[in-house]
Amino acid sequence: MPSKDNVIIFDTTLRDGEQSPGFSMTIDEKLTLARQLARLKVDVIEAGFPQASPGDFEAVSKIAKTVKGPTIAGLARAIAGDIDRCAEAVKPAKKKRIHTFVGTSPEHMKYQMKKTSSQVLRMAVTAVKRARGYVKDVEFSAMDASRTDLKFLYEILEAAIAEGATTVNIPDTVGYAIPAEFGEMIASIKENVPNIGKAIISVHCHDDLGMAVSNSIEAVRCGARQIECAVNGIGERAGNASLEEVVMAIRTRKDYMKVGTRINTKEIYKTSQLLISITGVPVQPNKAIVGENAFAHESGIHQDGVLKKRTTFEIMTTASIGAKKSKLVLGKHSGRHAFSKRLKELGYKLKQEALDKAFGKFKILADKKKEIFDEDLQSIVGEEISTASGEKVFELVHLQTSSGTNTVPTATVSLKKGDKVTTDSSIGDGPVDATYRAIERITGIKGKLMSYNIRSVTLGKDAMGEVTLRARIGNEMYVGKGSSTDVIEASAKAWLTAINRKAGER
Ligand code: MN
Repeated sequence: MPSKDNVIIFDTTLRDGEQSPGFSMTIDEKLTLARQLARLKVDVIEAGFPQASPGDFEAVSKIAKTVKGPTIAGLARAIAGDIDRCAEAVKPAKKKRIHTFVGTSPEHMKYQMKKTSSQVLRMAVTAVKRARGYVKDVEFSAMDASRTDLKFLYEILEAAIAEGATTVNIPDTVGYAIPAEFGEMIASIKENVPNIGKAIISVHCHDDLGMAVSNSIEAVRCGARQIECAVNGIGERAGNASLEEVVMAIRTRKDYMKVGTRINTKEIYKTSQLLISITGVPVQPNKAIVGENAFAHESGIHQDGVLKKRTTFEIMTTASIGAKKSKLVLGKHSGRHAFSKRLKELGYKLKQEALDKAFGKFKILADKKKEIFDEDLQSIVGEEISTASGEKVFELVHLQTSSGTNTVPTATVSLKKGDKVTTDSSIGDGPVDATYRAIERITGIKGKLMSYNIRSVTLGKDAMGEVTLRARIGNEMYVGKGSSTDVIEASAKAWLTAINRKAGER
């Protein structure tokens, strides 16, 4: 049992976050993020929803097998099949949890499930009992709790705890609650559920009205001891409470909150950056804690104050979240040893083959770019991780494009498949379009570009461009990623990653 003075940080980046549009990850990407979450020292990693798909099952199972430290949780509806599958997925973990849920508001019971409240109560009890048959650590969620009749909520929570639920979660599923009201609800649960002392009260708040963090913090003040949150606040619709914000609010206002967390806050910035690098979705510059401007002082009065004494306008330090200026780490003459050592320090574990490939890319980059930063390494390795999972059916051998004012954009591409190199050319609306068309002619795989994101990995004109895109091929969405100092080449690599994922399935 955790101490009363600590709030359990339950991370749902890989479940609620991953299921939202634009944030899907491959199994290897999930593993990489899960390992970083372990270094961040989150208490619980909700690794996925095993019954949702075979891929989800495999991801939860792999994380349960290999990620040490946090409790590994899987989500399951209050249905026998879901719970059995979830139990199987989390089984390899040393500390494991089954998180089962059922809708308890009139809206959810009547319209979504078409069930009466007594049927729903029975589902909850049966599910918790079944889960307890597999694991000691069972969480029960009353979905849409903030719109649930209070008397029924007390009743179902009491029944779940009596059946052995060790954590009861109160989700503000639709982001409807207001802080004072939500806090009162938590306090009333403490008062009206007779066996509440046997379970931890958890909250899971959504940000539809921009109050997910406020609601979570107020809930803690009123007795909740677990917060469900996600890195960079990602999640369904407007997202979940942002992990870095709740953690830093509790830490910075310890004087008022009188509780703490076990999070290693120095890993916050790195975790946020890793998620951005994996998904290609940045946070806005003014994002609290991890935004680019979160610690930038622009006004003269503020700058003057901070220079005289930092605490005049700063309540936190960049060091406390582990954000430092990009540090030159490697150059042209750095060897394989320094390279793999730095990768280890950054938390990457690569198989020999992937390491060799990444080192080759590093050498090519070092020829083009004098200074290599951590972010560059993350980008190179990120590309290796995202391609490693799909077979490399086609490999880019050569790319030449021509474009400019008053010229027809043209691309010539050579791809290798097995031992055979095929070359073809195409014109297009621009050099990227021409390149994609040439690739399509060679591979015979047609895709529709759904989103395209390019970002500069570090500062400077010689910085690498990192392209993350999503393509619809057939009925499926594929994510592609590529980086290079040449943005056309980065675009070609990203497209090819998506194509390879499709081709690898055949
Ligand atoms: Mn949610």
